[in-house]
Order: sequence, then C-alpha cells, then structure tokens
Amino acid sequence: MKNNSESDVLNSICHEAKAENKLSGKSLTALYDLFGQRFTKALSTLKENRVKKYVFKPSGRTVWIVIGRERDYLIMPEAEFCMCDDFYFRVLDKKIHLCYHLIAQKIAGILGWYEIIKEDDKLYESLMNEWKKATA
Ligand SMILES: [Zn+2]
Repeated sequence: MKNNSESDVLNSICHEAKAENKLSGKSLTALYDLFGQRFTKALSTLKENRVKKYVFKPSGRTVWIVIGRERDYLIMPEAEFCMCDDFYFRVLDKKIHLCYHLIAQKIAGILGWYEIIKEDDKLYESLMNEWKKATA
C-alpha cells in the first residue's frame, strides 16, 4: 500500500509542524487542499482527542485506535492500513489512499497528539478480538 504521494506530502507537512510545534495556517491550507473533507474529519478527531495508543505491558506491543462515532477503528500505521469502510471500499479501489483515520493517526503520531493507554498483556487477545470484530 505504500505507493502514494498523499502520505509523502502528509509526512513532510507533519514534520514541519513538529519543528514549529503547531500546524500553521499554511499547513492547514495545504492539508485541506490535499484531503478536503477527509482532513476536516481528521482534524475534529484530533481536537476531540480520539486517537489512542495502547501500550501493552510488559511486552511493549502497541496498538493504535481511533475512536469513531459508532465504533473503534484499528489502525496499522506501518502498513497504512485501516479497517473502516472508507478504507475498504475506496482505498482498495485506489480512488483514495488514506482514510481520515489514517490521516488523524499520522498527524497525532508525529505531533504527539494522542493519549497513551497502558494495558496488561493478558488483555491483548481479548481487546484485539473486540477491535477486529468491531471493524469487520
Ligand atoms: Zn479508516
């Protein structure tokens, strides 16, 4: 799935923002030009603090979750993979590369705009099953 300029542009804007420690007006405009409504949705996801990074102890395994309106979305940032319908129907169809969950996660990950939730490894399997079910 790593074939897109969208994520390159997003990466470079995020790293600029990290250096300035904020999303400048210029960055916001560029992101809106690139993603349109997807960016608007990503931005409200960030403002509402709906990006969570689960860290499991003691293994240190991490899982990224975006809390949606009706369910939670499991995100795999390295693979640029999300289990939402948007991703399934449009990304796989190559019409769109990044769904708004991935955009939000990417910005959150680089700028540190996420909440860390620590869980015991014992809960890993059952939580993963819940998330996979929720997004199936
Ligand atoms: Zn998604």
